[in-house]
Amino acid sequence: MTLMAYSPFVAQVRLVNITKQFDGVTAVEDINLDIADREFMILLGPSGCGKSTLLRIIAGLEDPTEGEVWIGDKMVNDVLPKQRDVAMVFQSYALYPHKTVQANIEFPLKVRKVAKTERGVAALAAADSLGLGEYMQRKPAALSGGQRQRVALARAIVRKPAVFCMDEPLSNLDAKLRGETRAELIALHQRLESTFIYVTHDQVEAMTMGTRIAVMSRGHLEQIGSPQEVYDKPASVFVAQFVGMPPMNILPAGSLESGNHLVGVRPEQLEIAASGPLSMKVTLVEQLGHEVLVTGDVGAKRFVVRVAAHTIAPRIGDVVGLDAPEAGRHRFDATTEQRIDA
Ligand code: ATP
Repeated sequence: MTLMAYSPFVAQVRLVNITKQFDGVTAVEDINLDIADREFMILLGPSGCGKSTLLRIIAGLEDPTEGEVWIGDKMVNDVLPKQRDVAMVFQSYALYPHKTVQANIEFPLKVRKVAKTERGVAALAAADSLGLGEYMQRKPAALSGGQRQRVALARAIVRKPAVFCMDEPLSNLDAKLRGETRAELIALHQRLESTFIYVTHDQVEAMTMGTRIAVMSRGHLEQIGSPQEVYDKPASVFVAQFVGMPPMNILPAGSLESGNHLVGVRPEQLEIAASGPLSMKVTLVEQLGHEVLVTGDVGAKRFVVRVAAHTIAPRIGDVVGLDAPEAGRHRFDATTEQRIDA
């Protein structure tokens, strides 16, 4: 049995001037964001930046202090969560421990008084699509973390929501399972053709899954763009250092170029060259098999350089020259730390 694509109507989500305050704490401030129908939008940022609050406002689990939430052509500020056509998937799975997998997946349909046979068919289709078909009679305690997370996803799928909201759903899984589940989520998004809004602090998840990423910091949107745009043209020093691992190296004003601006260079854009304008004292050499990371001090700054495998890497204690070709330089205002484009 296959799951049919659904979303019979357009499910774009629009946030207009959204602000949320909790007892004097401003969690998010004046957020404007348009999420297109069937987009896989990632809300990315460090702990406390307000991304979960924004997601919960979309799902209706929090009321904004100010601003409007639109789903399709309807303003939903006063619409209850269960009537918003939004399904939420949490990090903690939130499964009923005493119910079987089947009963857990069927539950949202039971609440809606869908007939038993129809519930069974829908639950099996959702379970099959996530490789859970053989576990239908097990209880959550007899499942692995990854299987539990898939049950939580299947339970969201049977509701056939127009919008899936996911709050760090993979963070309880180990690295291998996270990688596999990432791939499953990408496939699921393609199959279901619905709008996904996904909160994470993990830039790898953001880069690999998102059609667009909204990078957040301290309750504000720093940048919205495709993963490649955000990586290639970070709008600020914050984005430059949050997206990309190891982070972009940042040089103080005046150290590579004259003028009152900072210069950023990604580790793979630096070249070790005796005649280079920068000098680095090597403090660490990490062999990763497919590449070598060379860390060192450039003046008072810690720098990381990515070197191809099978080239001769420097050794700890060496002083090497570094070149930062023009094409690899990013410039930021020294005061505002915002990108300066030529
Ligand atoms: P994390 O990744 O740690 O969950 P986050 O980016 O999702 O962080 P939020 O949970 O949205 O951040 O929190 C944003 C800010 O709002 C934080 O300063 C947080 O302490 C505050 N906050 C969130 N929920 C509440 C609440 N119910 N009452 C008071 N303050 C809250």
